[in-house]
Amino acid sequence: MHRLGIDTVRDLLLHYPRRHRDFSSVIPISLVQPGAETTVRARILRIDAHWTRVRHMRLTEAVLSDDSNKLLTVVWFNQPYVAKSLHPGEEVFVAGRVELERGRLVLKNPEYELASADPQHAARLVPVYPETAGLTSRWLRPKIRPLLPLADGLEEFIPDEIRNRRHLLPRAAAVREIHYPQDQASLSAARERLAFEEMFVLQVAAQQAKRARQREVAVSIPFEEAAARAFVSGLPFKLTNAQRVAAWQILQDLQKSAPMNRLLEGDVGSGKTVVATMAAHHTARAGFQSVLLAPTEILARQHADVVETLLRPFGVTVGLLLGSTPPAQRASILQAISEGSVSVVIGTHALIEEDVRFKRLAFVVVDEQHRFGVSQRLALRKKSEHAPHFLSMTATPIPRTLGLTLYGDLDISVLDEMPPGRRPVVTRLVSPDRRDDAYAFVREQVAAGRQVFVLCPLIQESDKLGVRSATQELEKLQGQVFPDLARRIALLHGRLKPAEKEAVMAQFQRGEVAILVTTSVVEVGIDIPNATVMMVEGAERFGLAQLHQFRGRVGRGAHQSYCLLFTDQEDPQVRERLQAVVDHQSGFDLAEIDLRLRGMGELYGLRQHGMPDFKMEGLLDAVLIKEVQEEAARLLDRDPLLRAEPALSRQIAAYRRVFALD
Ligand code: ADP
Ligand code: MG
Repeated sequence: MHRLGIDTVRDLLLHYPRRHRDFSSVIPISLVQPGAETTVRARILRIDAHWTRVRHMRLTEAVLSDDSNKLLTVVWFNQPYVAKSLHPGEEVFVAGRVELERGRLVLKNPEYELASADPQHAARLVPVYPETAGLTSRWLRPKIRPLLPLADGLEEFIPDEIRNRRHLLPRAAAVREIHYPQDQASLSAARERLAFEEMFVLQVAAQQAKRARQREVAVSIPFEEAAARAFVSGLPFKLTNAQRVAAWQILQDLQKSAPMNRLLEGDVGSGKTVVATMAAHHTARAGFQSVLLAPTEILARQHADVVETLLRPFGVTVGLLLGSTPPAQRASILQAISEGSVSVVIGTHALIEEDVRFKRLAFVVVDEQHRFGVSQRLALRKKSEHAPHFLSMTATPIPRTLGLTLYGDLDISVLDEMPPGRRPVVTRLVSPDRRDDAYAFVREQVAAGRQVFVLCPLIQESDKLGVRSATQELEKLQGQVFPDLARRIALLHGRLKPAEKEAVMAQFQRGEVAILVTTSVVEVGIDIPNATVMMVEGAERFGLAQLHQFRGRVGRGAHQSYCLLFTDQEDPQVRERLQAVVDHQSGFDLAEIDLRLRGMGELYGLRQHGMPDFKMEGLLDAVLIKEVQEEAARLLDRDPLLRAEPALSRQIAAYRRVFALD
């Protein structure tokens, strides 16, 4: 249960079904139609379990009949215990989709239970819960059902006035009905209420945070058209339109005396760094300092090179501070920062340390913002006398509809356009019988001096860091596939110490390592222009947007690059989903497709962004979002501190963590 996020009775009660199966029509066998979901109430004539001859499966087989005197065959695969829990002569409900097989009606793997006036697996709308290995809906139902009376003890936190105006169910009723609804109408009413409440709490929290932030005072950095022009014309390339718009939005924000809180979102390679540098340039001209925080030393160095090259012609000084900076050098950088003689400071977590003091910090940029905790951002914020302007950058594509709600407290700029001349990464779904061809291709690429990523999925939940799967893959590649290249194949996974990771990455960057076996746990947000192949094993285990991010790690240099997706699954739906990565080159498109196909929970990155685990899908409903926003604004206009709403305040406290950006 812990794996499902259930640690208390309350969590269990609030573990809402993902969907329901409608088994509410109970019919005699004579009326059964192949293809329809139904419940049959019938008596067991015989039941037994045996091994099948082909494929060697445990097969439980039962024959049922009822007053209509027709027979129904029921089979369960690999569930031998069914034969122990049901017996001949008993009257049962079996529920599922009946098929016609060689003239017989057959029901495969149905839900079942003894017939009663109060069924929980059949003969009604039956909840289907989010499950995990070894923990099924069938197991959860009888655990959750007896808890439903406890719903009365849940605190109502939507103000009555709003609840009445929006015709929303009371909380207790909604929680009861979402598990075992009377009928479709009460199910929709329950969903509506729960979707509303989830978004409402989020919106009130976000709007409150935004209002608080707007009361803070930041340094106003004047927009200077001539300086902006000079910066742009000094670039070795032309800005894309998306970059132009984003830069404009940021420079406008910097002028304001309320602190900026903006997210710059764009695919890997869309050119976020230049945009941030342009703002740092303006800040320096106004006589203030900027900070750029990167998640790893390698990235920080890379940024420092780029930013320094861009700003040197304008006489703007750039400093670099890392955990590994030697003490003497560190002392002199610290002094330069506190005297204000360095205008743009780039670095890692080392920048957050107590003794790093700025003279006039006005602008903070956080790259790959989800890699930093709120407390770290808060610590940076405290290094400034005024509230600094805040720019977060991320390559996690968040569908537009979601962005609006999830980041109610943030303004968003999107780089939805790639610099011209990028050759799209050729993406292929490789069928199992073509695997050898793919390895031959990898060998050719390595022989030509190129480099390769091999990305492994996390096979077991318990193996959170992916040590096992990646280690196995490494052994296979070194032992069987590329024994001649064994010494140029390296492993990178989540259990390595930061210094070890950096060392492996550095070897890869220098080209000593040709094939890097890694997991998704280890983000490689780094520029390796010489890497041209991204092989993804078990591709079906990843979200589409996530696959797109993996793909973004190649295709950064002059050579044509390739992304090869492997899956052992023959399921056409799986292949179709993966095909979307072949067909689409935009991370936003893929995120939207994923959202439609798999729902919220699977969206890559939301968890990393510290988002709470949303249970309802209301976030996708633009009309609902707007209504909720209006209600939140109206409430805060009337009662900014929520003095009259203690229950709501308590709910919001739980979401605070997420929005405490300032
Ligand atoms: P990311 O958004 O992934 O952080 P970067 O800012 O690192 O992207 O930019 C990726 C590369 O593209 C860099 O080498 C950068 O110099 C280059 N670049 C950025 N903007 C443009 C542009 N408008 N035209 C051509 N190249 C660009
Ligand atoms: Mg970047």
